[in-house]
Amino acid sequence: MEKKKLTINFGAGPAKIPPSVLLEAQNDLLDYKGLGISVLEMSHRSSEFSKILHTTENLLCELLNIPQNYKVIFLQGGGSGQFSAVPLNLIGLKKDHCADYVVTGAWSGKAAKEAEKYGKINTVFPKMDSYTKIPDVSNWNLNPDASYVYYCSNETVHGVEFNFIPDTKGTTLVCDMSSNFLSRPVDVSKFGLLFAGAQKNAGCAGVTVVIVREDLLGYAAKECPIILDYKVQAGMNSLYNTPPCFSIYIMGLVCEWIKNNGGLEAMEKLSITKSKLLYDIIDESNGFYVCPVESQSRSRMNIFFRIGSINGDEELEKKFLDEAAKRSMLSLKGHRSVGGIRASLYNAVTVEETKALAEYMIEFMKVHRK
Ligand code: PLP
Repeated sequence: MEKKKLTINFGAGPAKIPPSVLLEAQNDLLDYKGLGISVLEMSHRSSEFSKILHTTENLLCELLNIPQNYKVIFLQGGGSGQFSAVPLNLIGLKKDHCADYVVTGAWSGKAAKEAEKYGKINTVFPKMDSYTKIPDVSNWNLNPDASYVYYCSNETVHGVEFNFIPDTKGTTLVCDMSSNFLSRPVDVSKFGLLFAGAQKNAGCAGVTVVIVREDLLGYAAKECPIILDYKVQAGMNSLYNTPPCFSIYIMGLVCEWIKNNGGLEAMEKLSITKSKLLYDIIDESNGFYVCPVESQSRSRMNIFFRIGSINGDEELEKKFLDEAAKRSMLSLKGHRSVGGIRASLYNAVTVEETKALAEYMIEFMKVHRK
């Protein structure tokens, strides 16, 4: 029998899920642990679902070493839902109703724009012409009266990642960790709140995890929709309304998989190895491949590059994508707003799969270099 060609998903999201997780879910889809009904059909008030919810939460606490004084909540509405939920819950922490936003790419930019509906927003450095770096922290204009400082630890579109946690001089720190969540150890105690959509490293779309320090609960604006009120959701263990049950279940399986594969330290080592494979080729290609992002701000998760020149030779890039697809390497196209190529190397993408892409990049360069 002909061997099926291995398809590799380099998509930025919803992204690859470990095959062993999908296999386990396949069984539970038909009959959840002998209950006779699918995991999709279980009541969110049942003891079985309660176990799933607690298992997922406990695994997250274990992997991230979440301190006791934090609540973990599972919400719907995605990362974009949290753009609104954060100011609605936290802008009133201080009397001025203002917040600092660190805009290093499209997602933090969208979050700042959304927050403007609810308070005074200060962007801590002037808007950049292109998102290719994290401006020097010593030049950030932080407002000591801000209720919080907001940033995005990995800008998925531009491939810009923080390799440090900013020091906000005591102001509450809020982070959108959607696209590098669970890819490296994180000191949660440095944050007032962090959130992450699951569909990159932590499972499938539908659930967004919020990890929030308890003393920040109870400041929601009166117009905050009740389902976005962290105090209500935390007080009811994410069960104020029907939670995204299946996505929480999948997140639990992914956390288990991470734990069984060495935890966040191991995930970090793998991401360093995988991203280095591609960045080395880019840097040694004498300008055939170009990554516009400064080396210390380059993302390990989303490797963004152009082919032919810094602005990209679109014909060559199309050829690269077409030939990649013939080799069953999918979703390498850059985000529609920036073009180019983007290889997303989330936890479930293996070193072998990354090597296959690296080999293809070398081959493609040999054939097409002028
Ligand atoms: N934040 C980041 C860093 C993202 O990458 C995305 C989506 O890709 C979002 C927020 C928005 O997430 P959602 O589509 O779940 O609203």
